[in-house]
Amino acid sequence: MANIIDGKKISFEIKDEVKLQATELEKKGIQPCLAVILVGNDPASAVYVRNKKKACEYCNIKSLSYELEESTTEEELLELIDKLNNDKNCNGILVQLPLPSHIDENKVLLKILPEKDVDGFHPYNVGLLSIGKAVLKSCTPAGCIELLKRSGVEIEGKNCVVVGRSNIVGKPVGMLLTAENGTVTTCHSRTKNMVDFCRNADILVAAIGKPKYITGDMIKEGAVVIDVGINRGEDGKLCGDVDFESAEKKASFITPVPGGVGPMTIAMLMKNCVAACKSQNGL
Ligand code: NDP
Repeated sequence: MANIIDGKKISFEIKDEVKLQATELEKKGIQPCLAVILVGNDPASAVYVRNKKKACEYCNIKSLSYELEESTTEEELLELIDKLNNDKNCNGILVQLPLPSHIDENKVLLKILPEKDVDGFHPYNVGLLSIGKAVLKSCTPAGCIELLKRSGVEIEGKNCVVVGRSNIVGKPVGMLLTAENGTVTTCHSRTKNMVDFCRNADILVAAIGKPKYITGDMIKEGAVVIDVGINRGEDGKLCGDVDFESAEKKASFITPVPGGVGPMTIAMLMKNCVAACKSQNGL
């Protein structure tokens, strides 16, 4: 039976470290500040935003909240970002995605100053990530790496298979694993014989968005399994992209859903806020 990687516990370790750094900054008269912008009434987004505010409180990070009407125009949103870009007291800007369809997501993400892009989605930061020099790393992928490291899993020299190639998860996870000297294969919907790749993985990261898609028979005995997926199963319960029940019989380490990668995303966001604040203050 696999060791269960406790993402909740590890996320609190990180938040406690962030809180300590924020307290050190406070002694210098600086308080890190995150602006969170929500457009519209998507209930899931509202929950994410609430959780981000709660994490800020826990870490002693000031949070500014902008809850805008669904009818907000792209121009109005860009104006707000411009204002926050120019506000010296605001260190991080996060626009909760998805945005209403009349707003161009790409235009909005490009508007955020790279040094305030605490989600790590700006192409400039993605570029830095690809050359191993990013200060602000995309939160969920960075969270996956922290889970591995803090569980004592060595990445160097391992066969790492990432299923999924999205810009926000699959691609950056692959880049980070490469930076840690893993040998990375990326699979996607057009991959032929994906099962063979998966069965060869020492470290398997699933970021597909399909409930319980990766089953125990696709996993090598003793592999480490990181499940990024957040889905609703047929029973209506939250589940990952990995069939936990069969996978945990094969894996040496595995993340559960919920309680694995999920809590890490916000913890890494907090880490980015403090990193952004420090770098903007020349520290
Ligand atoms: P996307 O839909 O953007 O990407 C899914 C990827 O999976 C694509 O690259 C797609 O391939 C690939 N894929 C789809 N079907 C298959 C298949 N049958 N075989 C192989 N590959 C396949 O999703 P995201 O990357 O945004 O998210 C993935 C999952 O992670 C979702 O469940 C999401 O909810 C979750 N998530 C969790 C977060 C967290 O905080 N824990 C944060 C972000 C996401 P192709 O490119 O060819 O279409």
